[in-house]
Formats: sequence, C-alpha cells, structure tokens
Amino acid sequence: MTRKAFRLIVRGTVQGVGFRPFIYRLASRLGYSGFVRNIGEGVEIHLEKEGAELEEFLKSLREEAPPLARIEGVDFQPVEPLGRSGFEIDRSSQEKSFVFISPDIATCPDCLSEIEDPEERRYRYPFTNCTNCGPRYTIVRQLPYDRRQTTMSGFRMCPDCLREYQDPLDRRYHAQPIACPRCGPELSLLEARTGRKISGGLVEAARLIKKGKILAVKGLGGFHLVCLATDQKAIKRLRQIKRRQTKPLALMARDIKTVQKYAKVNPDERGWLTSPARPIVLLKKKSELPGIAPFIDTVGIMLPYTPLHHLLLKELPLVVATSSNRKDAPIVKDDYLVGPELCDYILTHNREIAMRADDSVIKVVNGKPVFLRRARGFVPFPQAVPESLASPVQILAVGGELKNTISIYKNGYIITSQFLGDLDDYENSRYFEETLAHLKKLFSFRPELVVSDLHPDFWSTRYARSLKIPHLQVQHHFAHSLAPLIEHQLPPGEKFLGVSWDGFGYGDDGQAWGGEFLLADYDGYERYAHLDYVPLPGGDAAAREPWRMAAAYLYQAFGENFPRLRPLASIPESRLRPVRLMIERKINSPLTSSAGRLFDAVAFICGLAPARVEYEAEAPSRLEAAASGVKSKRNQGYSFSVNTDTRPYRVDFSQTISELVLDLKKKVRPELAAWKFHLTLVHLILEMSVLARKEHGLNRVVLTGGVFLNRLLTEQTEMVLRKNGFEVLRPVFYSPGDESLSLGQIAYALNRVKKGGP
Ligand code: ZN
Ligand code: ZN
Ligand code: FE
Repeated sequence: MTRKAFRLIVRGTVQGVGFRPFIYRLASRLGYSGFVRNIGEGVEIHLEKEGAELEEFLKSLREEAPPLARIEGVDFQPVEPLGRSGFEIDRSSQEKSFVFISPDIATCPDCLSEIEDPEERRYRYPFTNCTNCGPRYTIVRQLPYDRRQTTMSGFRMCPDCLREYQDPLDRRYHAQPIACPRCGPELSLLEARTGRKISGGLVEAARLIKKGKILAVKGLGGFHLVCLATDQKAIKRLRQIKRRQTKPLALMARDIKTVQKYAKVNPDERGWLTSPARPIVLLKKKSELPGIAPFIDTVGIMLPYTPLHHLLLKELPLVVATSSNRKDAPIVKDDYLVGPELCDYILTHNREIAMRADDSVIKVVNGKPVFLRRARGFVPFPQAVPESLASPVQILAVGGELKNTISIYKNGYIITSQFLGDLDDYENSRYFEETLAHLKKLFSFRPELVVSDLHPDFWSTRYARSLKIPHLQVQHHFAHSLAPLIEHQLPPGEKFLGVSWDGFGYGDDGQAWGGEFLLADYDGYERYAHLDYVPLPGGDAAAREPWRMAAAYLYQAFGENFPRLRPLASIPESRLRPVRLMIERKINSPLTSSAGRLFDAVAFICGLAPARVEYEAEAPSRLEAAASGVKSKRNQGYSFSVNTDTRPYRVDFSQTISELVLDLKKKVRPELAAWKFHLTLVHLILEMSVLARKEHGLNRVVLTGGVFLNRLLTEQTEMVLRKNGFEVLRPVFYSPGDESLSLGQIAYALNRVKKGGP
C-alpha cells in the first residue's frame, strides 16, 4: 500500500476549546502520523498513513468534536507525505490573524462532579474549570489565547496542574485558566463598610444572605448583588440601592426543579436554561414572588454557571442575582468600586475580570430565542457574512445610542460586542471605549471604514466622526431591517418588506420614526408606509410619561374635547391642560410615528400603565402581560385605516382608539381590550404585507425593532404571515432591539464596499 497524506484546514471556533488534543486523540486512534497546529483562520492538520482514507476521520471530526468547538468549515487536499512517525501537537506557529475565541462557558458536568467529590483534589474549589468549560472572553487580555495573556498570568501552576496542562490525554490539556486550591485564585469574604476580612467563606456568605444581608458576589463578567428571593425587607433595600422600584430582578435557582416551583418551563426553555451559555430565561410565572417582577407575567431565572455559584446555591435554593450597578450604569467588575453603598458584604476573589459582560437574557418564542440582552455566553461568537459580501476591508460599526453594541468586521466575519447600555450615560461611553479597545486587541482589528446611525447628535455618531476615517451613516430602521438578513446569511438581490417597529430612531425627514414599513434591499430603502405622525407632547418627557401619549392619541381621535377616561382622571387638570395646549398649538411637540409610543398610549388608556414609567418598555410589557392572560382567542381586532392617497402610505389609528374607548366605556375588561389591540397590529402587518406583495411582488417580510421583543405580537405575526405564504425573518441570535443596529450597519457598509463605495 502506498503512503498517502492530506492537509486539512478546520475553520471556526477551534482554538482554546480542547480541539488540538481532540485531534491528537482521534489521529492516534485511527493510526495516523502527522501534526496539528493553530493557524490564523483555525487549525491545520497534517495526516498520513498507508492507504489513508479520510472518510472516517472527517466523520469523527464532526461528530466527536469538543462541546465548545464550532466548526465553520473543513477544507482538505492531498499533499506529499512527510514520512513522519507518530502524531504530535505543534505549538510553534501562532500567526497573528483573525482567531476566534470562545465565550465564557458554564461549568461542565465533569468539573461539577469533581467539586462534589470529597476524594478529588478540587473538592469544593470555586474556580474549577477545564478545556470544556470556564471563563474565556472575560479573562483574555490579548491574543493568542495563552495563559500569560489572561488574568490567570499571575498564578503559577503547581506540579499537579502543570502535569494535567501538559498531558494531551488530560481533560485540562492547555486549559489556560487551569487552577486548583493549591495554586489558583482564592475567595475572600469582606465586610463592605470596613473592608475587614471575615472567615467562613462560602458557607458564611450563604448564612449572611439567609439572614437578610445583601452580598456583592464576583462572577464571570462582573459582580452580582445577591439576596434572598423571598425576603421582602432585603428586596426592598436592594431596590433602593439600585433605584429601581418596578424593573424586574433576575433570579438564580439551584436547579431545574426549583425553577419549576416558580415558573412554567417547556422543553425549549429547559434546553436554554441548562445550555453551556446559561442565559437568564424569561418564563411564565407559576406562583408570584412578591417584589421580583411586579405587574408582568414572566420572571427571569438562570441556573448557576460557575463552581462558585453552584457551591453558594447548595446552601440556598433561590436568590436574587442582579447586576451590581446603579441605575443605567454598566456592571461593576473591579473590587475597588464595590462598597457599602451597594451591599453589606462582598464575596470576591483575586482573579481579575479583563472584560465585563452582563448575563444574557432571552425568551423563547415559537421555539426560537428572542434576545433581550446578548452578552455572557454568546459574545464573541463570529457571524459569517454571505460570501458575495465578503471583503478585505476592516469595518467598525458603532451602533446607536440606547442599548448599544459595537460590531467589527474582518475577513468574512462579524463580531458583535456584548450589550453596553445607553451611551448618553458617561460611564457607558467609557465602557464602549474599553470594549472597542479590547476587541481591537483580541482580533488585531484596524478599522478602515466606520458606520454609524444617521442621528447627528448621538454620542456614537460623534465618536465615529472623530476617527477621521471614511464614515458612512445608515438610517436607524433600515439598519434594524438588515441585521436579520446578515444573521440568516441572505445575500443581496431580493427586495423585502422591513417591518421595523421601535421606540425611536432618527428619520431621513428629521422626524422621530418608529412604526416603519420599508421596501428594502441592501442597497437602500423606500419608506413604504408608516404609522401616522402624532405629536410627542413635551418631547422626551412623552417617552417617560405614557399619559402624554394617551392624550395625543385621544386628541387625534376625538379632538380637543376627548373623553376623560378613568386613568386620565388621575392626572391633575393643571398638568393635563398645558399638554393639551402643546398638542393643539404644536408647541414643544415633535412628531413621531413610533409604535412604542402607541403601545404606551394604549396601555395607559386601558388603565394598565403608570403615569410615569421607570424603564423603557414598562408600559408595553404590562399591556402584553394583560393581553397574554386572555384565554379566548376568538375575538376581532379593532379597525384601522390605511391612507394610500399619499406616499408613503399612512396608518391611521383614530378608529382603533375610538373603538377601544367605546369598549372600555362598555366595561369590557382591559385585558380583553389589550388582546384586541395586539390582534389589530397583527392584522395591520398582514394587510401591509399583502399589499406590498401585490404592488411589488415581494414575499419576504422582516420583523425587527424593539417592539418585537413582545412575545405575543411576534408569535402571532409570525404565524399569520407564514400561514399566508410569506417568508418571515426575524432576529434569533441577536436582539430585535437597538443592540443589533451595529450588525445591520455592517451589512450596509459591506454592500457599499462591494459596489465600489463609500
Ligand atoms: Zn469542565
Ligand atoms: Zn494547581
Ligand atoms: Fe431602534
């Protein structure tokens, strides 16, 4: 038999995930000689033996790859045999190119059983990890991903750890954060007021929580504030600290059984709860936990994802675990920023966090996730772009303003940063710069082109301008519409209807857009239709005070003597009168087509929203929660009209509002009215899609924008459109909200570059 040899290139997330030792074991098992090594784009494998056939190797490569590896593609070709004997891992070459790095991954079952086994040397050790699990993105300072480039660099491996680290057959072969009680990071428990060290470690920490104390606990991407989920006094104090009275608090539960006590869990949700990414999953409440998620029907729960959490939750079945920040500021990662103004005690450790990341938050709709926040466990997964858009130009997209992210493009892939928060807050703009610097280092990224929103005064737009490199600007709702196209890897060439609904985005006519139907392709868009403009009485104040929007919509439907429904009666005449005047005389009342503001108005008219909201989606969330409780789904929606005399078409909700008011006067339950309103919007989207199909022959509809975080709306619209033969696209692994603007911006820029721009 002749000796044959092959060279394979495996692309994807294959570095720092135990891939080379896996290849070593596989090649040895199948009797190959050769080597494996990391190269820029992934891993290179050289295989040779007598009469080599690759089939079995390739099959096992796919089927048995380590859990954290994500293979994007395998190329292979026959080469000259090198006459090697034996197989080895070649550590010599570390090209400086685009190397993917894994997100942080929850403790694997093997590590979990070690920390539970008194015979193991890592028994109850809170920093146990292996190549299949543990911190990654949050501890890396620079590539190549190597221990000395991580925040583990200061810990010298003990002989036992070193042996495991060097043994290709060991689960911890080249596990960069490898540690044990002898050589790794240590926990410490401190009193927040004095900084005094307290003995007792995890057990004492749990005891303090049981006693009603609030602890700051250092996790992977930052500190959590932790207290008992059933202690009203502690929750009240925590809410004072966070200055959040109604915003839902996330919970961490010991196990699935505990989760099921408080919430309904379907198989998809269970899959996500226990996945290596371990996001917070929003679940339907089963029993009410006072003070946790008031006025809504869901509760966000996650399972422990580090050994530290597992060990702490052994003592306590359920805790509040919310990110340790004051209102609107980024999550805190550094010990020196945690003090008595945040907590009573601090459970910390001496492994630094290089890059902060919040917990990710999802809900499952029609079997697929909807991201409310994409961070730990998902960042920095690479997103491949359609081949026809790939380009050698490196592109930076700086996103919008609220719920911002950064995306970078290089060599056919986009990396989108973790959720960074609202850039109008100074600390968050620092977080933006910190993250961009991090991404630049990790991916050797040098932007040659920058893309921002169209809004002239966004912090991100000004930042983009300050870079003094070619700068493109993309309309907000157009960027929203392109993001799902890139995610689903659809190339340019097919026109679609982008249903882009959110709170606010700067329109190309200078107005505040937010209820848009765009006829679009990568090249550009035409504003096909929009929700008719209504005044935003008081500008920004109208977004915080739903009663103002209620007044605007009632005025539009009924004129100045609009009916004074019960919810409006709670607003003193001294406040209502000036607002009515503003609307009437068009003073301090910019126009908006925002769907988010329509939800605000309807929620308030139904008596389901407070006069002033604490967080952005509060009123719509309450409206959705009320509508979700309606069992009979046989109702009609309300009427609306579409004015096709003008371009773009305009959707008029005057009839919707008057029928809604009539219903409420007839004592129809607000829950039912809320449901009928949702149904109205589903019908509207269907009607506009059918019209666009008729007029433009398109069949693809993209549902995007923060309004589609609404489970009911997304679920129903998706189903109805599909039933009517439409191809429906919506964000799945990215948020429909402003977090994915940067992704859509990259899509636009890539197309422009292809066309010879900018
Ligand atoms: Zn592990
Ligand atoms: Zn050790
Ligand atoms: Fe938006």
